[in-house]
Amino acid sequence: MSASTTTSSPAGRMPVVFVGHGSPMNAIEDNRWSQAFGRLGASLPRPKAIVAVSAHWYIRGTYVTGNAQPETIHDFGGFPRALFEVQYPARGDAALAKRITELLVPAEPREGVPARRSGLRDDWGLDHGTWSVLVHTHPAADVPVVQVSIDLRSPPAEHVAIGRALRPLRDEGVMILGSGNVTHNLREAFRHLGDPDAPTPAWASRFDADIARAVQQHDTDFLARAGATDDGRMSHPSPDHYLPLLYAAGAADDGDAVSFPIDGFDAGSLSMRAIRWG
Ligand code: ZN
Repeated sequence: MSASTTTSSPAGRMPVVFVGHGSPMNAIEDNRWSQAFGRLGASLPRPKAIVAVSAHWYIRGTYVTGNAQPETIHDFGGFPRALFEVQYPARGDAALAKRITELLVPAEPREGVPARRSGLRDDWGLDHGTWSVLVHTHPAADVPVVQVSIDLRSPPAEHVAIGRALRPLRDEGVMILGSGNVTHNLREAFRHLGDPDAPTPAWASRFDADIARAVQQHDTDFLARAGATDDGRMSHPSPDHYLPLLYAAGAADDGDAVSFPIDGFDAGSLSMRAIRWG
């Protein structure tokens, strides 16, 4: 029995997925996480295209990659050469990218929310938040991929709202993928890199559990404010790896079945939880 036969989604509607990408090395290592990414990919229905929101495209403005052939971006330093040699040659989808810019524009400016600017950009491609996962979930690179940037100026509810604006794409065969981590305190994680027995701090297990509960209850209001709690601030000294979850939660709706295809912690405190809606 495949996972795609157990969902309650209308036929043809694509699931929404959030993946904890963790270390870039998961792209080239055969480990617990990369194997789990592979199993996750095998369980998903085949989309016509993937729209990815990665923690690593965190800029001023909400932009969309418009490249016909997006570059594989190696946006890190200090890793082995083999990681810099990874190429993920999925095509882009210019028509989908343009459609996304149209879906994103209509919201009226609101107090404290920057007016949405959206447009196509060809100076970005697929960053490692996207390709370190897709090399395992979609190893043939035969599904077009478009990335949407995260506006670093926007309040949490705006990220949820943008996810909601993308929701209609699910009925057009498009899978929406958020890639970050439910907890991501790098200073804490670096102290325990490579230690599979590192203890998980209480703030990390509490935050991970609180997020899992809110996701199951479709409680996007909680998700939008969770980053500002004490555990949220410990879990995310910078919000970039949390925000992709808000896009995914926004693209989901209350009728979606929720499952957690991957859970557990890497390096003690780094939640590798993956979430599937629908
Ligand atoms: Zn990352």
